[in-house]
This record gives sequence, C-alpha cells and structure tokens, in this order.
Amino acid sequence: MAESPESPETHALKPETIAVQAGRPVHEPDQPLNVPISMASTYVGGGDKEYGRYTNDAWVAFESALGALEHGEALTFSSGQAATATILDLVNDSTVVCGQAYLGTTGQLADLEARGRLRTKLVDISDTESVIAALDDDTAILWIESPTNPEMQLADLPALIAAAHERDIRVVVDNTLATPILQQPLLLGADIVLHSVTKYLAGHSDVNLGALVVRDPDLFSVLKGRRDLIGAIPGPFEVWLALRGLRTLPLRVRAASANAAELARRLEEHPAIDEVRYPGTGAMLAVVLPTAEAAELLTHSTTLWVHATSLGGVESTFERRRRWKGESTDVPEGLVRLSVGIEDVDDLWMDLQQALSSVGLPR
Ligand SMILES: *Cc1c(COP(=O)(O)O)cnc(C)c1O
Repeated sequence: MAESPESPETHALKPETIAVQAGRPVHEPDQPLNVPISMASTYVGGGDKEYGRYTNDAWVAFESALGALEHGEALTFSSGQAATATILDLVNDSTVVCGQAYLGTTGQLADLEARGRLRTKLVDISDTESVIAALDDDTAILWIESPTNPEMQLADLPALIAAAHERDIRVVVDNTLATPILQQPLLLGADIVLHSVTKYLAGHSDVNLGALVVRDPDLFSVLKGRRDLIGAIPGPFEVWLALRGLRTLPLRVRAASANAAELARRLEEHPAIDEVRYPGTGAMLAVVLPTAEAAELLTHSTTLWVHATSLGGVESTFERRRRWKGESTDVPEGLVRLSVGIEDVDDLWMDLQQALSSVGLPR
C-alpha cells in the first residue's frame, strides 16, 4: 500500500523552515507577520502574564523558534553569562567538571570556587578517557564546550553524556560555536544547552543575549523560576532583533562555514602560519603565528577583517586571544582566533594575504 504523503504535522520540518516559520502570529487577516515589540512592564491583572519580569511576547516568539531548532524548551536571558550564572546558582557544595571553555565561564567557576560555593575540575575535553576518570560522586555537572573556544578541540558528546548519566551527573553543552544548525546536543541526551545568543543566533554584533534550552519540564520550571526570581531578563527589543537574526541562521552558518573551510585550506599552505586549527565544521578557526608580535601585527594590518573580540556576526573579525589577561596559558601567545563572516571568500583571503605579508614572510 502506498504511504500517504506526510503533512507538515507528521513531517519534522527542516531547520531552514523552522528558522523562518516558528514564533509567528497566527495567519489571520490583519495579523502582522512578526510578533510586535511589546514594551510592557505590567499587564492588566487576572491573566497569565501579570508582570514584565515573567514574560514578554517577543521572548515567547524567540524561545519557540530556538526551542524548535534545538528540540527543547528555551528560556532567554540578558546575556550568555546570565544564563551561565543561572545554572551555576543551582550548584552547591559539589564539583563542576569543565573542559576548556569561554573565559567568562571559567571566570565564574573560579569566582564561585574562591568563595567556597563549589569545586572545579578542569579537564581536556578532547581526551574522553580522562574526562570520564574525572567524574566522581562529588560531581554535579559536566560542562562541555565543543568545539572549544578558542582552541577548537572537539568532544565526543555521546560518550561523555552517557558516562555522566551513568553517574547521575547533569550535562551542560555550550552550543554557541556550533549552533543548532551543526549540532543538537539535546538529541544526544544533554540536559541543558546554553547559548550566547549574542553570537551566531542573533548574528549581527548588535545585541547581548543568552539562552538555555532543556527537554525536562521539571528542569525547565526550575530554571524559569530562577529567571523570575533573579531577574536576568532580556529587553523586548533585543529579543526581537535576535529573532530577526535567527530567521537567516541556517543561511549564515552555511555561508560562513564554507568560507571558513576554504580559508583553512589556504592558510594551511601559507608559510607565515605555524598551525591551523579548524575543527572541520563551523565558521570559527584559529591560526598560530610564531610570536605574539607577529599575531598582533597581523590583526592590525587588515582592512576588511576587524580586530575585535566576540564572534558569530555576518562580518569577519579576529583577535589574538592572549591579549586577554584571563585567557588560559594553554593558548599559544601567537594564536589568532578568526570568526569568519559571510563576505566573499576571495576578498577575505586577499585581505589576509596582504596582512600576512606584513608579518615578515613572503606569500
Ligand atoms: C560569548 C560567549 C559566552 C558568554 O556570552 P555573553 O553573551 O557574552 O554573555 C559563553 N560561551 C561562549 C562559547 C561564548 O562565546
């Protein structure tokens, strides 16, 4: 018997479709296509909304789109750091095992450890055996970034998640660099996905925002309760901008990743570069130059590439990571992290090539 054609309800929509269609008002005459920005700190009482710290129409729209892309329920926060703090606020007198991570994450862990709130074990997330060996009865959370920022290491997510769950340890995956387009950790069993929405999801270097996504309704209630209580909430306009950015996430990630793959290939062959670290996917890569001076010179000799921190915008940016005092000393002094944008790849290459010639080596 022939299969009946799948309706949109039975057919899991593709990320390209979800990113465009989710979080819209109903299709009815005179409804706007986009959820309007609702500037409200208070609502007429007696309904579900009540107060602006609890909900906002723009949050709900963005959260439904991000939740659909990550296969969970999303909560938006005022920054990625606020989302991180909300999780760590739940940890008491136990250990967080953490791979190489964003320096704001390790900064929060170090701060909490110094105040006696928790203990931290830093591990090499690409060494699966040693990470599993670090998980013990005291461990509350395994915190994973993959690829890592800025070293571009990859974690074996299914193996690490399984090992953590065998020991009743919750797994947080910071999915900022991969985005749900390249990796969906909740489908691999992770408990919480964290995003700095500031980066790829919003995608235009114009807002600071964060998000958490979970599948377990009880965990969702706990995290929503913390957001209600602590109040690390985003502004309606910022979330509206992030949803606007999210509409093109699949296109931007695909274009930027193609550029990154091509630039990694060309940089591999460049004599001024000691090492190229490219995880084989995504739009981030790192190059190692022989000295800090050469790396600094490179980041100040371009016209298209912007010397700037952060990542995930439509525009190409780069920086020498060790210029930050808090950066791990494992990161080489001459490491330059590149956030590849969606410009023309040959234009980006020409600009890099002319800058590389200024660091003293011929092309
Ligand atoms: C930027 C970043 C964060 C922190 O997010 P903010 O929005 O800057 O607060 C967390 N994790 C990763 C991987 C990041 O790149």
